[in-house]
Amino acid sequence: MFSDKDRAHFSNLETPFYYYDLNLLQSTLTACKKAASAYQFHVHYAMKANFNPKVLAKIKDTGFGADCVSGGEVKKAIEVGFVKEKVVFAGVGKSDREINDALDQDIFCFNVESIQELQVINELAEKKQKKAKVAIRINPNVDAHTHANITTGLDENKFGINSWDMPACANILNISANLEFVGIHFHIGSQITNLDVYKNLCTRVNEFATWFEDHGFKVSILNVGGGLGIDYYHPDQQIPDFEAYFKIFADFLEVKPYQEVHFELGRALVGQSASLISRVLYVKNGKKKNFIVLDAGMTELMRPALYQAYHKIENISQQLAVGGVQSPNLIKYDVVGPICESTDCFGKEVELPESFRNDLIAIRSAGAYGEVMASHYNLRETIATVTNEDL
Ligand SMILES: *Cc1c(COP(=O)(O)O)cnc(C)c1O
Repeated sequence: MFSDKDRAHFSNLETPFYYYDLNLLQSTLTACKKAASAYQFHVHYAMKANFNPKVLAKIKDTGFGADCVSGGEVKKAIEVGFVKEKVVFAGVGKSDREINDALDQDIFCFNVESIQELQVINELAEKKQKKAKVAIRINPNVDAHTHANITTGLDENKFGINSWDMPACANILNISANLEFVGIHFHIGSQITNLDVYKNLCTRVNEFATWFEDHGFKVSILNVGGGLGIDYYHPDQQIPDFEAYFKIFADFLEVKPYQEVHFELGRALVGQSASLISRVLYVKNGKKKNFIVLDAGMTELMRPALYQAYHKIENISQQLAVGGVQSPNLIKYDVVGPICESTDCFGKEVELPESFRNDLIAIRSAGAYGEVMASHYNLRETIATVTNEDL
């Protein structure tokens, strides 16, 4: 729901643009911080979800660390002021250059995703006469019950080290003078809405922590990753239930007094705080289908084209004043973008009030994996970002 004032402001702006509600972002961060602090849990923000500078500034000011998946993200995290001791670096394909740069920055820890990577980090650290802190990213074979394209913790996924390779891992750790083992890391997928999945994860974390301790390693960090989903169907019920989420880990993880529990939330922190605002270019009424052609496309928001993701679509020009009733004349439209790809479609058979050229359309819950995935396909230009503070 947008206020009449927001809509009036939007109508003067060039579309499409990303609109960020920084107040909502702040409330979400505060709610997460409060819920995590109740159990002394530590949160690292998964930067790939959104690296808009204004968003990063708020997250850094909340005191969260940064979870990075590329050298570019490590660099950015430190540039915008995240403290090095709270920067972690995961990713299946860290290049030598990325590892060297991260070693120079003295980041908190590498979340290591293969045995070979362990050896390479050891060699590169040796050349610099440094000790690299490492956590082993374990693939726990836990089904996240989410879309196959965003599942990461099953045997068939490329992420992490499989359980049967743990003895080999332990061996490398024992013989590598330039590695310091700090703990174990997991991340089983994204947009997880069934919280029972996390109970299964806790069981696996407990098993692996015990295994490492039984083999003579001190496990200081239990990093359980992120993946908490948001409600894309109800963008106005905006703040995820962080209390319920953290409580599962408090109840089911066996945490020793010297152990810290780390989380890496991305989507849940930023997802609801942005909408992609676009304009209707054309309405095509056919025999079988009605199309709304927008001036925004998959180049601005790729999730629907990439993994059939649902985003709520609203015609905010035809939305009546707050408190009013929606226009009764509802029509089903396929809402599409201008890009020359058939997958460039934001929603099929979307029920909307009768829509007209120049109406403003909001694609909601676009704060995570939205702006960051934008591309220049079709030589499209980068679009503006607008926040509530600019209005
Ligand atoms: C993407 C990612 C996350 C965050 O996932 P969300 O679903 O956005 O919470 C956390 N950890 C790692 C290693 C990731 O790659």
